[in-house]
Amino acid sequence: MDFIPRPYRHVAATVALTCFSIGLFSAHGSHLIDRHHAVEDAREAAAALEDTQTRLDVSISKAEQVVNSAKGLEDESDLAAAADALKASIVDAAAAAEEANDAATSVEIVTEGVTATSADQYVDETAQAAQEIEIEADITTDDLADAQAAVTDLAAVLDGEVDDPDVARAATEQLESAKQAIDQVTADVETEAQSLHAATQEVQLAKDLATLDTSVQSALATTVSSTELISAVGRRVVTSSTVTAALGADSALRAAATRAQEVDRSNADEVSTALADLESATTGLAATMEQLQVSHEAWVEDVNAERQAANDTLMAAYQEKVEAARAEWKAANKKAVGNNQGGWTGKPTGVAGSNGRVAASSLCTLDFDTSHQLQCAAAEALEAADAAYYSATGRHISITDSYRSYASQVATKANKPSTAAVPGTSNHGWGMAVDLDYASATWLAKNGAAYGWVHPTWARAGGSRPEWWHLEYVATSVGGFEAPAKPDLEELAVSAFAR
Ligand SMILES: [Zn+2]
Repeated sequence: MDFIPRPYRHVAATVALTCFSIGLFSAHGSHLIDRHHAVEDAREAAAALEDTQTRLDVSISKAEQVVNSAKGLEDESDLAAAADALKASIVDAAAAAEEANDAATSVEIVTEGVTATSADQYVDETAQAAQEIEIEADITTDDLADAQAAVTDLAAVLDGEVDDPDVARAATEQLESAKQAIDQVTADVETEAQSLHAATQEVQLAKDLATLDTSVQSALATTVSSTELISAVGRRVVTSSTVTAALGADSALRAAATRAQEVDRSNADEVSTALADLESATTGLAATMEQLQVSHEAWVEDVNAERQAANDTLMAAYQEKVEAARAEWKAANKKAVGNNQGGWTGKPTGVAGSNGRVAASSLCTLDFDTSHQLQCAAAEALEAADAAYYSATGRHISITDSYRSYASQVATKANKPSTAAVPGTSNHGWGMAVDLDYASATWLAKNGAAYGWVHPTWARAGGSRPEWWHLEYVATSVGGFEAPAKPDLEELAVSAFAR
């Protein structure tokens, strides 16, 4: 068996090229050269197998990415089936790769030898297994001897004592068959991965197309309302660049929508890009519109602060004018009352009808007591007096009698012959007199002059016919209070975004 001179044996087992040079000097040169070529072939096959395994690793890694991207769309049954097929191919490939790995390892032992430590360990383990077989199976001495011989043979192989080219050829065959298996599963994985990728793209494209159509519609609707808003805002902003930015983003979204409408609908990448563009342009417009709103509303706030201040000034001046006019009106009323202490006489100017038969158009219902009517100027003046009475006492003037028709004056005269006036002569018949409760009558006798009302001298204590409850309106020449016209106030601005 020892064709290689002993000093070189170890070297030959580990360095292949050495066996070639030794062969040149050997008596059995042709045998050694043959063995050398066989070992070289085995090594090349081992290297080829390694490349194949690398390619498989890359294919599996790509296939896993395809499976992952398909996962999000797995609700589509076709896709799920393709994904399952690819997963099965990956499992097959992994198993084949493992087998090939085993083949490569055993070939490595044949062609490269192993380190002393691993060889000893391997021999020890095998010998121990043989002993265990003996104990457990009660095998014969011959069987044990065979097992021991097998261990010895293995030890020889592990020592690198391979000198049979057939052993190396067998190893090469084993490697090449492993490579073929790997090539086959790699091709399977790649085919399934391509099929799943194509199916995924098809499903993704269908989904993207559906999304694209709604996105385009929504983008166009967004630009319509944005354009309107930007136009409504105009230049009314505190930062003018917000308008420019919003206009730019609005055009960008419109352009993206137009491009999306013209996209090649069979091209998944183009559709996907158009969708991403739409989304980005939509987000961009929303951001600029938000900034525009902030800038516009700051403008509205500033402007309204100015307008409100101007309005406040106008209203303060107006209130002063009103107060002055009211003071003038009260002074005029007092003057009229001073000239007419005896009460009202005759038919009021401008009143249609006759005593007790005053036209409805010349009578006004009192706002604080709708069961009573007076001649309109008298009613208005009594309402002004009531407002003052109310703010002083918290109560309204309490009326027992006001305008009295001719028929009811006849009835009153029948009931109170001594106090009631002759029908057709009472100022109640003109809507120029009231009868009040004690508190109201006392207050109006004291304060009524400013409103044109007087407690006539004849009705006062010591008068010709004392009636503490009876007061009359005498300031028809003054009339009701007419407030000055209100100033034109500046209208406050409203945010264009509030509409
Ligand atoms: Zn009266």
